[in-house]
Amino acid sequence: MTFYSPPGSFARSVIAHGVLIIFLLAAGGWLVFDFWRERERTVAEVSRLAMHKSQLVGALFGDTFIAADYVLRDMADHVELALARKTSLADLTPLLEKKLVSVPALTDLVLLDEHCKFVAVGGYKSFLGTRSRQRFCSASSHESGQNLHIQYMPAEKSANGKPVVLISRSIATRQGRMQAAAMAVIELDFAQRWIEAFAVDAYNVQTILDTEGVVIARNPPMLDDLGKLTLAPPGQPAFEQIGSAATFTARSPLDNRERIFGLSRLENFPFIAIVGYDMARSLEEWQQRAWQFALGYAALTFLSLGLLRAYLRTVAQSRTLHTLATTDVLTGIANRRYLFERGEQELARAIRYDKPLSVLMIDIDLFKKINDRWGHPSGDQVIRNIANLMLGILRGVDTCGRLGGEEFIAILPETEAQGAATLAERLRQAVEASELARADDGQVIRHTVSIGVAARLPGDMTFETILRRADLALYRAKESGRNQVVAG
Ligand code: GH3
Ligand code: MG
Ligand code: MG
Repeated sequence: MTFYSPPGSFARSVIAHGVLIIFLLAAGGWLVFDFWRERERTVAEVSRLAMHKSQLVGALFGDTFIAADYVLRDMADHVELALARKTSLADLTPLLEKKLVSVPALTDLVLLDEHCKFVAVGGYKSFLGTRSRQRFCSASSHESGQNLHIQYMPAEKSANGKPVVLISRSIATRQGRMQAAAMAVIELDFAQRWIEAFAVDAYNVQTILDTEGVVIARNPPMLDDLGKLTLAPPGQPAFEQIGSAATFTARSPLDNRERIFGLSRLENFPFIAIVGYDMARSLEEWQQRAWQFALGYAALTFLSLGLLRAYLRTVAQSRTLHTLATTDVLTGIANRRYLFERGEQELARAIRYDKPLSVLMIDIDLFKKINDRWGHPSGDQVIRNIANLMLGILRGVDTCGRLGGEEFIAILPETEAQGAATLAERLRQAVEASELARADDGQVIRHTVSIGVAARLPGDMTFETILRRADLALYRAKESGRNQVVAG
């Protein structure tokens, strides 16, 4: 046994650190989860914003086509009138020229005859006599009345060698034969100039695409290696898959920046407006807050671990101090101070619960002679031997200690005088039987102890009273020839 239970500071430290680490991990996990959700919310919000803006850009871009169509409607009415009167369509040229300047986006305004030949031209006179290559020109039958056609012409197919959008109104007889058409030409340079008039923040983009995914206009006007406005961002849903609007995120191969895109189809016109917000910039504020929290979390972690460490060190120090204050330096068992403290405690408990309590007082026989014969260090060795034997024989609830010199005490709770005497006898025999080899020359030091036993009596109010009776019993054991146990 030991004279008091071990501190268990290691286990306590492991538990305290474990609890703290679990708490910090849980808090950290929650923070990460919450920030991830916050990021997704931000991306969703920016996606919605991009989609709404693409709808606005699309609507504004579509306004040009609506304005062009108004002009065409007017011209088509004049054409119908001319057809009815059988006057020449070429007579409408001055009117074409007047209308042409009324819509800034228009680069030309022309009239076509039933063979799709240019018969009246508002802008490029050199077109007169050429044949339009629009799809409706080669159609075999037409719906009667006026029909609207919109067609994108790439540079290689266009009459003026530039990419254009052609908006036409054809006029057909009831039998489905085309009679004439009015056509408005919008150069795509206009679209580029138009979109550049929109302010965009750094790294954001606004784009108008045709239904094939070809970029018609883009702000900022980023060009690819071939000097062309590039294709749609990768990851963009196919035109057929887009309802009226959609959102997606994609990384641009041009500048390697990830963007949140919103796109919407123009109503009645074969174009898509796309607005892209830079992902990194959109998440800047979120990122800043995430860093602040991460730093705060790290600081909290260090602080908590530091505080825990300081606390555990203080606990360990106070334990060491307590051990030093209650331990006998030579033997490691309880010292005189702690023996009296425990003695009073055990007596109080025994009185309260009306339990027996016994005390052994042990004194080494003729110790002076041992010292004289073997020397002081060997005497110390003998003292340590008695302490070790006591630790081996006594129970866990017992307290043993060195009273001073070569005298020891054992406090035995819940033990009658009879049991205490048996224990004392076992100890006496163990000492007598022990063969202690001398440290320097290995010679065996034989030694014995005398033990006085005293049990608590009903009137005992102090530990010292019992101790005094044990001392008297010890005195009698010495008187009777030593190496024996006497119960008082
Ligand atoms: P007795 O059988 O009557 O007890 O004889 P004794 O020689 O043991 O007599 P006593 O108890 O009076 O002697 C105690 C001696 O123990 C006195 C002192 O020299 C010695 N002593 C006291 N403390 C220590 C110690 O810490 N180490 C050593 N080596 N000797 C000690
Ligand atoms: Mg003595
Ligand atoms: Mg002695």
